[in-house]
This record gives sequence, structure tokens and C-alpha cells, in this order.
Amino acid sequence: MKTSLALLLFILALTTSHAGPVSEHGRLQVNGRRITGTKGETVSLAGNSFFWSQWGGELYNAEAVNWLKSDWKTTIIRAVMGIEAGGYLEHPESEKAKIITLVDAAIAADLYVIIDWHDHHAHLHTEQAISFFQEMAHRYGKQPHVLYELYNEPLNTATWAGDVKPYAEKVIAAIRAIDPDNMILVGSPTWSQDVDVAAADPIKDNNVAYTLHFYAGTHKADLRAKALIALKKNIPLFVSEWGTCNADGDGNVADASTKEWMAFMREWQLSHCNWSVSTRKEAASIIIPGASATGHWPESDLTENGRVVREWVRQWAANPPVDPKSEK
Ligand code: MG
Repeated sequence: MKTSLALLLFILALTTSHAGPVSEHGRLQVNGRRITGTKGETVSLAGNSFFWSQWGGELYNAEAVNWLKSDWKTTIIRAVMGIEAGGYLEHPESEKAKIITLVDAAIAADLYVIIDWHDHHAHLHTEQAISFFQEMAHRYGKQPHVLYELYNEPLNTATWAGDVKPYAEKVIAAIRAIDPDNMILVGSPTWSQDVDVAAADPIKDNNVAYTLHFYAGTHKADLRAKALIALKKNIPLFVSEWGTCNADGDGNVADASTKEWMAFMREWQLSHCNWSVSTRKEAASIIIPGASATGHWPESDLTENGRVVREWVRQWAANPPVDPKSEK
């Protein structure tokens, strides 16, 4: 009786599990410029960034995550905790609770998830960031699904050597005392575009990648040239936020430029999260005002950006980038 009950529970667990990318690749590990899975395979993920938690929190729910997994074939999501402007600094418990809801949903769905400290002045909030990431490391450090993003977008007035790198080193030390191995993403000045500067003076840690943010309507070959400087130094980049539109989140979908960026990310096997899962009336949103907060979006609820990005994300899952033969 005992044996058959155990067997029944085992079968039940198998049939109700939601196999996804984390079961396939395990904890992500920087390996030169590459991001690799536990078998050493190159991993290139495609998915969605949520919107600032203090303004887009109604979408921070498991149903929306499950829909992105099932309909979009998303393999990674980004939980975006707003820090200033009515975010975590003013409402730490409620904003943190939204992040935990989204991270737990991603883990249940077997998706990768980025915990993003969404701040333009994080080096002025070092103590708060340390205490938050210590708590996240205790809670999630053994989960292969979780990545920590320490500083969304430093401004162009911050410096790498004087502001961003010292901040990142302090937060990384605090995380590593608790979680020795999950991937950590670090931004760079000029809204996480100065990856060439970070690449010239990298952080000493064996699982750090540098975020590269672009908006296809605004950023073109000049920014890819900066990215190439880093990649050719064997420095790993991670596109934790990108848009099809202008850098302010509005304008139009820049189709031709988006295609060029997608080809670049495919060539270098970069992972990427599109900005953003939101109903706000602007070009970057994937769904229209009034669309359900819990997924199940018919095509008529998608914005132009939503339709374009859904195709790119699905294509990535169906045909993930592979290493060029010459580099194998
Ligand atoms: Mg760990």
C-alpha cells in the first residue's frame, strides 16, 4: 500500500510538472563571452520584461507568466522592482511582494527570471540594495531559475570606475556570502550602453554578465560597435531590456532596425527580454489598454509591438541560435 501510494504520487508529480528551459539547462554560467547550461551548452533565451512594479503591478501574477510561457514560448521573464518614484524606497514590503509573486510564478513554470533593481541612481541606495539582495539570495540562491540584476540603468552622469563598479562589487560581495553561484547582471553608464567601458575594467567574479540595453528606433550600428568591443574581449553581454521603438518607450515599431538587432543577437547568441509587459498606452507595451491582466490575450489585444515581439520570441524558442562552426 505504502509503495503504491508513493508510486501514485510520483506519477502525479510527473504529469503535473511543467517542464521548461530550466529543467533543460539548469543554472546559467558565464563561460568566456557565452552563457552556458550545466552540460556546457550555449544558452540563448528570449522573453519579456515586466513594467515598473509600482505602475504595472496588476500584471505581476502567475496567470500572465503562464500565458507568456504557453502562448509566446517565453523562456525568461524580468521582474522589475521600481526603486524611486513611489517604488521600493517608499513601499518596500508591497513592492517586494510583487517581485516575490512573479519569481515564484516563474519558478513554478520552470522559467528563468531576473530580479531587477530598477533604479537610475542605485549607487546612492547601496545599503538598501544590499539588504534586499541578501534577502533574495537567502530565499532564491539555491534556485537555478534566478538571476540578479543589480542596477538597471546608470545615467550618463555616473562613472563606471567611481560609481557603478564600486556599488556592484559591494552588492556582489553581499550576495556571494549567501549564494556563491547564481548569475549576476551588472549595468553600465549611459543607460547600460557603455559595455565597452565595463569590458575594459571588468568585475572579478566568475558569474557576472554585463547588461546591454537598446531601443531599435534610437540605437543602431554605433551601439553594436560598442557591444562588439566587449564581445571580442570575451566579455559576456545580456540584453535584459530592449525595445522595438524609441528609447523613451514611445514612437513606432522600427522594423528594419529591430531585424538588424535580432540578427546581431542571433550571431552572438545573446539572451534578451523585451520591454514591456504593460497595458500603458505607449509603443513599447505588448498589450492594449483594457486588455486582461491575467493573459489569454487574443491577437486583437496585442499592440503592434506585441505582435512583432511575439513572433521573434516564438521563433527564438523554435530555433535557438547555435554557435558558429568556426568557434566550436
Ligand atoms: Mg546559487
